[in-house]
Amino acid sequence: MLIINAFIVVISALILVGGLFVAFRIIRILRNYNLGRPWIILTTLIAFFLFGYMYTALRFLGINLVSGLSLENLTTVIFFFGSIFVVTLSVVNLNLMKNVFGSGISDTEALNKFSQHIGMPIRKVRSLVKKNYAVKCDTCNMAVHYSIPNVVRAHPQIERGVVVDKGMGITSYRLYVRHFCGNGFREIPVSHDHQLEYRAKRPSRLV
Ligand SMILES: [Zn+2]
Repeated sequence: MLIINAFIVVISALILVGGLFVAFRIIRILRNYNLGRPWIILTTLIAFFLFGYMYTALRFLGINLVSGLSLENLTTVIFFFGSIFVVTLSVVNLNLMKNVFGSGISDTEALNKFSQHIGMPIRKVRSLVKKNYAVKCDTCNMAVHYSIPNVVRAHPQIERGVVVDKGMGITSYRLYVRHFCGNGFREIPVSHDHQLEYRAKRPSRLV
């Protein structure tokens, strides 16, 4: 009997139970956005690890639940699914960061996406667009520099970051410029005219 080993494995299993509760909370939040699936996979893996831990703890105490299952085989399977767990968690985090900080597409790809979205030929977009625009934040009074590719990157769903306003034969574009202000992100809606020149801004809002 390996009582100390069994004790440590039981503590580890209790920590995993804590992880399981956190995962359930994440699923409850993400379910509303249809993003819960990877977390269901992760939760299933945690539940599987929990079984493995309990099985191992009992083995250390001399109790064998499944006669055909050796500790060597169980360890191998835990190692295998452990690596899958780490990779899945990393990919899920990467996608989350892309959503928060902007997806990693190049300037060219971002301008193409912009041109398709607003229905302006890419050549025209390229000739009109400036590398850098600036707007003053109404909250912190700092000059916020932005570019159209930045705005596109910050909004994987482009219609949330770039809105085409058409009225009385005049087309203008509303861009939501994301800016880290104090302790949170704010979005400053700025208006650009049909020549993509900066025209005006509206009050910013917290993201
Ligand atoms: Zn600010």
